[in-house]
Amino acid sequence: MLFAIELRNGVVANNILIMKKIAVFPGSFDPFTVGHEEIVKRALSLFDGIIIAVGANALKKNYFSLDDRKDMITKTFKGDARVSVDHFEGLTVDYCKRVGASYILRGLRTSSDFEYERAIAQVNRQLISEIDTVFLLTKPDHTPVNSTIIRDIIRSGGDASQFVPSAVNLKDYKGQD
Ligand code: ADP
Repeated sequence: MLFAIELRNGVVANNILIMKKIAVFPGSFDPFTVGHEEIVKRALSLFDGIIIAVGANALKKNYFSLDDRKDMITKTFKGDARVSVDHFEGLTVDYCKRVGASYILRGLRTSSDFEYERAIAQVNRQLISEIDTVFLLTKPDHTPVNSTIIRDIIRSGGDASQFVPSAVNLKDYKGQD
């Protein structure tokens, strides 16, 4: 297993295997926001590659379809080979293992985010100790940016464009309750 991971995410230079640092940024991204975009952009100085992985939970009803959520993210990072977009079902740590990522990236806005994220990160580490979670604090003006509130604005016919990346035109997507 380790060998397979090394082949996928390592490069050999002067006979020394250099492991690439890959992080998975998992989330619902319903929709992807400027807050999510900023976390990924800042994390690119820490990791060689980031996989933005949309959680596809068959039991969870999302407003935007999986394809639309992936499309928004693809448009946001178009042209940056360090960022890829995928989706997964099941446990995030199992997905990380499958793609050879040693880090989970998460964003923090408030103390309640912290408490929620702390429990998940600690349980994840108990499940697979080789995978660590890295948190980045949101920049102050993104603290109130929240996918739930953005969905409410859209449902009520408001203009939520300032809360999503500039590459995303919300008119291209039709949400469904
Ligand atoms: P999930 O359902 O997994 O919480 P979200 O799409 O809501 O998915 O969030 C994905 C990650 O992005 C989480 O770590 C969340 O705390 C973080 N996040 C959400 N909004 C912001 C924001 N405005 N600034 C920074 N991080 C954020």
